[in-house]
Amino acid sequence: MSGSTDPAVEKLQALVRIPTVSDRDPAGVDTDAFDRLLEELRAQFPLLHEQLELTRIGSHGLLLHWFGRSATHPVVLMAHLDVVPVDESAPWQHPPFSAEIHDGAVWGRGTLDDKGCVAAICEAVERLLEAGHRPAQDVWLSFGCDEEVFGTSAEAAVDELVRRGVRPWLVLDEGGAVAHEAFPGVTAPVAAIGVAEKGATSIELRVEGRGGHASTPARNGPTAQLAKAIVALDRSPMPARVPDTTVDLMRRLAPHLPRPVRPLMSRADRIKPLLTRALLAAGPEAAAMARTTFAITTLQGSPALNVIASSATAGVNIRVMPGDTVEAVLAHVRKVVGDGIEVRVVERGEASPVSRLGPAYDLVAETVAAHFPDAIATPYVQTGATDSRHFTRICDHVYRFAPFRMDAAQRHAVHSYDEHLGVEAFLAGIDWYQSLIERLPQ
Ligand SMILES: [Zn+2]
Repeated sequence: MSGSTDPAVEKLQALVRIPTVSDRDPAGVDTDAFDRLLEELRAQFPLLHEQLELTRIGSHGLLLHWFGRSATHPVVLMAHLDVVPVDESAPWQHPPFSAEIHDGAVWGRGTLDDKGCVAAICEAVERLLEAGHRPAQDVWLSFGCDEEVFGTSAEAAVDELVRRGVRPWLVLDEGGAVAHEAFPGVTAPVAAIGVAEKGATSIELRVEGRGGHASTPARNGPTAQLAKAIVALDRSPMPARVPDTTVDLMRRLAPHLPRPVRPLMSRADRIKPLLTRALLAAGPEAAAMARTTFAITTLQGSPALNVIASSATAGVNIRVMPGDTVEAVLAHVRKVVGDGIEVRVVERGEASPVSRLGPAYDLVAETVAAHFPDAIATPYVQTGATDSRHFTRICDHVYRFAPFRMDAAQRHAVHSYDEHLGVEAFLAGIDWYQSLIERLPQ
């Protein structure tokens, strides 16, 4: 079958082959790759670049303005151009920057996160321009270049929109998908539309001590104290609860659940404590929906086997649940780890506000129903962070949804290895974006 691919698929492949890996350290970024990506986009989507007004945001971010017949309900379609690095030791089945097609899918870093969206949005716009379509409302495309490193380009795009007095009616970014194998017991795919996202906050736990020669150790040195703090934190998670959005999700899934649990879930609002316990018991993915989470990520002690550490540090990545605040989480952490452990905030990210449902949500859900009739469209709180959180400053209707079918293995491949996007799924996603733009309200 290879050799007869759709030109749109070849465009996606070309984008994946350019390794636009972002890095927190600007010196570590291959700016040449980002330059090439922008050139590639320009070559692939000539009408888009001719007819939309382009503003460069930061180093390589793009904000494109497509003038519609009206500017009363402007819409922002988002994606990001950067990707996370590849772990060279991970067992990729196919080289991550080759974008090879195997088993009906394009394989490579960024296919799902997030060049599939970049290519599908641009292709949809290009096709509509080719057909002479003028959208009913202003359409803005916002493509950040540093999403994966919590960079500033999305925030700068928001500043630019504020400067121009634009208050979006709808903002749509990556996040949810048409998720197959999403919920135990539910065979239908779930079109999960993120209405809120957890905040990403990082802290460092630090203990200082005397250090010294490993032949004369004292008890309870910095590493032992740090270990106790880590264990304490692991044993004392934040209180769990089910947010209203998740209750709503359960009610929407109820008719599709096995018969015995159907009546229970349709009354999810009345069994919140039970639901909370069920989520906590259903594995890490479900548990993350019910509370603020702590992940101990980095550990550092002495650099040598025969040297006692004079300081020991642990990095903790925290995902703050909507309803919790960073301050409340820090108070919890300080209480749990106790005195003697320094708690330093490295990065502070609050949970996003919860976007209200309404006509903008309905437009997304209706477009889902038209293109994925087998899927159950539902709002949900997503655990990962996206650039769209910055847009909650100027819009009450920020949703996170990529119109691609994905199975569980694909979702696990994001930021990991063997990332791949189905060719058919990609092409259906282009149609979906096109349809969304065609459906914008007068
Ligand atoms: Zn992403």
